[in-house]
Amino acid sequence: MALKRPQSMDECVYFTNRTTETGRIMAWVFRKECPKCKNGIMGKPIKKGGKPDKKADHYVCYKCSYEEPNSQVEDSLTVNVDYKCQHCGNTGEATTPYQRKTFEGVPSYVFECGKCHKKGKIAEDSPDSEK
Ligand SMILES: [Zn+2]
Ligand SMILES: [Zn+2]
Repeated sequence: MALKRPQSMDECVYFTNRTTETGRIMAWVFRKECPKCKNGIMGKPIKKGGKPDKKADHYVCYKCSYEEPNSQVEDSLTVNVDYKCQHCGNTGEATTPYQRKTFEGVPSYVFECGKCHKKGKIAEDSPDSEK
């Protein structure tokens, strides 16, 4: 079954598109739908100036202002992965929980190649140290 793709970044709490030496990874996490009004999406509260407050400890519905703590929202989210495996070259799709695990010493979302069953990782973004 093909994964649903985001139409815009606004639908995602997380999005990355990167290439590795021999592979490629696109990964995204859809926002959670508001469990209360079923109409809005849960996102970080908007600070003055219109930017989301990424350090906030909760999410808020942009429609009805219903709030949920970070852990409750993030536990229910899934990382969707579209990859070209860097081990075997297989292209496929995978999902993994929206929880970073330490893999090869780096906090990462870890997924498994559907063909060779080797693990792939999506390491934490570190824009400051990007080459
Ligand atoms: Zn709502
Ligand atoms: Zn593979």
